[in-house]
Amino acid sequence: MIDVARKLAFLLIGYGGLGALARPLVGGVGVILMLHRVTAFLERPDGPNRHLSITPQFLDALITEMKRMGYAFVSMDEAVVRLRSPRGAGAFAALTADDAYRDNLTEALPVLEKHAAPITVYVASGLTGGAVDLWWEVLDDIVEAGKPLSVAMPGGEMKLDCATPEGRADAFRRLSTHITSEVREEDQRAVLRNWAGMSGVDASAPNRKLLMDWNEIRRCAAHPLVTIGAHTVHHYNLKRLSKDAALREMYRSRSMIEAELGTTPRHFAYPYGYAAAAGLRETELAREVGYASAVTTRHGVLRPEHARNLHALPRLSINGRHQDLAAMRAMLSGATTLMANRGRRVVTV
Ligand SMILES: [Zn+2]
Repeated sequence: MIDVARKLAFLLIGYGGLGALARPLVGGVGVILMLHRVTAFLERPDGPNRHLSITPQFLDALITEMKRMGYAFVSMDEAVVRLRSPRGAGAFAALTADDAYRDNLTEALPVLEKHAAPITVYVASGLTGGAVDLWWEVLDDIVEAGKPLSVAMPGGEMKLDCATPEGRADAFRRLSTHITSEVREEDQRAVLRNWAGMSGVDASAPNRKLLMDWNEIRRCAAHPLVTIGAHTVHHYNLKRLSKDAALREMYRSRSMIEAELGTTPRHFAYPYGYAAAAGLRETELAREVGYASAVTTRHGVLRPEHARNLHALPRLSINGRHQDLAAMRAMLSGATTLMANRGRRVVTV
């Protein structure tokens, strides 16, 4: 569905009260909400990564509204318990944040403390500490540098003009598609660093600037509202790896986090989490490794059937482009779950 139609449908459902009607029919037993960044100080509010960032004010408004609607905010541990043994009428909500951005600690946590709302932060153990580049932010810096780029693509050398906003948007689109679908996962860092070199960009800077280090993650982990989950080592698209390599990513991220924090992460998030990045094979691997749950980025509310699909849990992404309570009400109603999944109520992989 095109974005405008989808937005319109969100608004009709959210404002029109259809959401309240739909909820008993298609609304779930709970929801897992997905965040990335929570900040009032976004460096590039019009940048290509703006969908990954909401303000603390919106997070506050959202939790307030959801509590008014009767949602109980719970940890992922409790979400699994409630899926396994449903209790009464009340729906639950579990907050999650991928990649461990520093603002989760500095700007989101004060809001969560105010509401006593737990959160699970999924840590990619190689991203933390800087062994892996935060490629989507590096790519933003590369195009923002405004220098012309000459990139080897499958069809030959491609020249990209980054001098204008349109050129930068186009270059970001082309290069992110190329790096996620044509470059081998294991080669991404070298390719990215080559482009960064052409633009005079420091590829390690976004990681240092935006992500928590292990000390900050330890502070998070010690907080009673925070659960640390695993998100692989290298943030590779697991579906593009061999089975052994995918399994290694799942095991190693757990053991690295264990070594740093002294506790074993029980929950997992698939990097990217969309259909081309997490499928049946990955859900079976996550179960084999022993995670209690694993979340995708498929759009959906939770249904009782998810008790049998704990390694293929859908989420509702809180998109920075639509920080709108009406849109959120539409999503919570379960109506958009049907719309986004061709009428399917139980969304797995
Ligand atoms: Zn991620």
